[in-house]
Amino acid sequence: MHRNTLSESRQTQLLVLLVAAVFILVAAALAGLIAGSIATLTTTADDIDDQRALQATSGAVQALRKQMAATLRDNAYWDDAYAEVNADTRADWIIENWASTSADYPLYDTVIVVDSENLPVVAYRKGVPMGVMPGEFTDDFQTLLDAARRVRMSDEVPVHFARSSAGTELIGAAAIQPFERDESLVTGDFYVLVFAKLITPAVVAEVSNSFAIADLRLELKPAAGRLAVALKGVSSDDVGYFTWPSMAPGSKSYEKVDGDLRTAGAILVLFLCSIGFAGGITIRNLRKSELASRRRALHDPLTGLLNRAGLLENFAVVSDPLRLNGKQVKLHFIDLDGFKAVNDVWGHAVGDALIVAVAHRLRDTLPKDAFAARLGGDEFAVVTINELGAELAPSFGRRLQEALASVFEIDGRSIEIGCSIGVAVSALGSVQIAELMRRADIALYRAKDLGRGMTIDFDTSFDDDALQQAELESQLRTTLLKGGISVLFQPLIDALSGAVTGVEALARWHREDGTVIGPNVFIQIAERAGMIDLLGMQVLTRSLNAAAAWPALNLGVNISPLQLKNPRFVEQVTAAIRDAGFDPHRLTIEVTESVLISNPEQARRAIDGLKKIGVKVALDDFGAGYASIGSLRRFGFDRMKVDRSLVAALKVDQNAGAVLQATVALANALQIPVTAEGIETEQQATAVRLSGCDQLQGYLFSRPVSADEVTAIYCAAAASCSASHSSR
Ligand code: C2E
Ligand code: CA
Ligand code: CA
Repeated sequence: MHRNTLSESRQTQLLVLLVAAVFILVAAALAGLIAGSIATLTTTADDIDDQRALQATSGAVQALRKQMAATLRDNAYWDDAYAEVNADTRADWIIENWASTSADYPLYDTVIVVDSENLPVVAYRKGVPMGVMPGEFTDDFQTLLDAARRVRMSDEVPVHFARSSAGTELIGAAAIQPFERDESLVTGDFYVLVFAKLITPAVVAEVSNSFAIADLRLELKPAAGRLAVALKGVSSDDVGYFTWPSMAPGSKSYEKVDGDLRTAGAILVLFLCSIGFAGGITIRNLRKSELASRRRALHDPLTGLLNRAGLLENFAVVSDPLRLNGKQVKLHFIDLDGFKAVNDVWGHAVGDALIVAVAHRLRDTLPKDAFAARLGGDEFAVVTINELGAELAPSFGRRLQEALASVFEIDGRSIEIGCSIGVAVSALGSVQIAELMRRADIALYRAKDLGRGMTIDFDTSFDDDALQQAELESQLRTTLLKGGISVLFQPLIDALSGAVTGVEALARWHREDGTVIGPNVFIQIAERAGMIDLLGMQVLTRSLNAAAAWPALNLGVNISPLQLKNPRFVEQVTAAIRDAGFDPHRLTIEVTESVLISNPEQARRAIDGLKKIGVKVALDDFGAGYASIGSLRRFGFDRMKVDRSLVAALKVDQNAGAVLQATVALANALQIPVTAEGIETEQQATAVRLSGCDQLQGYLFSRPVSADEVTAIYCAAAASCSASHSSR
């Protein structure tokens, strides 16, 4: 399952990366587009304005020429002028009408009139006669004059720019002729009127003003970085240039917003960086939480050891044959002895603290390359790697048991605990983990069965035993379903009178092959296989039915601790008693002390329930384990049965007599009667009688016998009885 969350986290990381990348790309693309647009806007605005200025300047030049041309036409295509220049007084007339005005006339400042031979008749500049011949206008002057004579009346008269010693001039010429062209006249004979106008800084300034072209200049060459319009000479060569700087309104507008744009750019970059940063942090956090959840998924939160998933994953790594390099992997399953009792008696907080403390010692005991896991509850696993065949000396199991043997101090309590260990080996990594775990489990099971503090190595023979066990289990199931468990009864003898006062029911399994299996074997199987409730109730019902024939005898029935855990136990016993029509006061339920330790609350509830309906409860096998006299009183037992081992010890151990005596005396002081079990000799019978036991049981009096035999004994003792009952 954690794999899914991991890949989910990885997907989320990718998604974050993708979203951040897309965002940054889109933002960058938008920024690029906007920057491009602004650049285009800027250059387009600049171009448009340059174009406008170019047109305006060209228009200004054109206007200057048109104005000059119009002035020339007005003055040259004039009947009076024609008449006057062809008269002898022409010079005076020209001076008076044209030349003198050149002093301060805005449209021209130079007036020249030439005759048909192109020889100057009058040449004035600024109202005074020109000293020099107008040859200074170069050869182009002749071309201009010829053009003026050749031009048709409807056409524009020639006007051009020219360079003179004074500077750049606008110069034009028109043949002096009648207003209406007289075709009989030879054009070559015409006088020609020439006007020129020096392009002074004032003229430039006026053009600059009226055409809104800032910083307009007249220059001989186009200047770098400035726009220019050529001033064409007569022979179409460039005589000079009007130049001006580009206004570049786009660039200027751009400069105005440049600061803002830079700020915006900086903000965008900052924004993108923070997105990248946030994305990075998110991914890092995701990665961190992925690692954390991976850790969580593979570790036990209480102890910090690996959990089952972690064990499997680590095992897969170390058991790789290549990595193992000729070594063997050993899997140890460890189960604490008596942990359940600690939990029940001291509570879960202490239980947890103990688990943590055990994990500590486990860690400290780990050899190199080994790792430990907590599989749940009080179960641990340790995987060790060691040389093939070579055993650790002392073995890890031994060392761990030694490590756990010393007392744990928890919350001021001294707690003693041990462990059972099952070990399975995989040489060269040849055994798969599932099989290895199964083997370690079986070995642990064995170790537990053998008692406390055992380490058992798995042996293949275990599998055969397990097979047999499984076979037995299935046979027992079949027998139980057929109601095939039978019951024998062992008489209970009154210590004083020697009379039979009761019987204890003891279960027997007669198998189909004729063998009889005792309860010490099959009760355990039934408990493990979950068949104990069924078995217990079968024995009870059968015993109640049989004992109905012996109204004067009490009936003792053994109950497994597991049955007391069944919440419906009291209810089921009540129903069985009612169905059998049995007097509950004649029934004694025998329970062993183990139930008091493992589950005191449930035991108390069941015992109380039984006592409420009149059934008596006896503590069985007293002295074989740990039960104290105190628990006799605490649970309100009606009787105590001293274990056979205590009685058997009598003949070998002087002390045993004293222990038995003290035990019985204490029970008697609490007014709890005591049965002595396993009496085989007269000496034992005398000893327990003297100790104060009021009831005796053992082979000395009778082995467990069938119901029919009880009936026979009973009928021999009692005058009247019904012998019709049988246990089967
Ligand atoms: P227990 O309750 O202590 O029963 C007495 C056991 O001691 C019986 O063994 C009996 O045959 C044996 N015994 C009696 N007198 C002597 C003697 O003088 N010498 C020796 N050596 N043994 C003697 P059994 O029948 O094999 O039962 C063994 C145990 O199985 C019982 O011990 C009881 O704890 C359990 N058990 C028997 N029947 C049932 C049952 O129906 N349900 C449950 N849960 N347990 C049962
Ligand atoms: Ca018993
Ligand atoms: Ca017993």
